[in-house]
Amino acid sequence: MRIVVDRSRCEGHGLCEGAAPELLHLDDDGELVLDNEEITGPDAARAHAAVRVCPVAALRTE
Ligand code: SF4
Repeated sequence: MRIVVDRSRCEGHGLCEGAAPELLHLDDDGELVLDNEEITGPDAARAHAAVRVCPVAALRTE
C-alpha cells in the first residue's frame, strides 16, 4: 500500500501529519512530503487515519 496525494486539493494544514508523522510531513515550504512509499503492517492503520483526517479529501491509499 502507498499514500497518494492530490496536490491540487492539499491546503497544507498538516492534520495528516498529526495522524501519521511516521509516513508524511510538511516541509519548510508547507509542501506535503510522503516519507514511505510502501506501507505495511501497523503503518497501514496510520495511513488510513491520515486519509480520514484530511478535511479536503486530498489523500487516498492505493
Ligand atoms: S490534511 Fe489534507 S490538506 Fe492538510 S496537509 Fe494533509 S493532505 Fe494536505
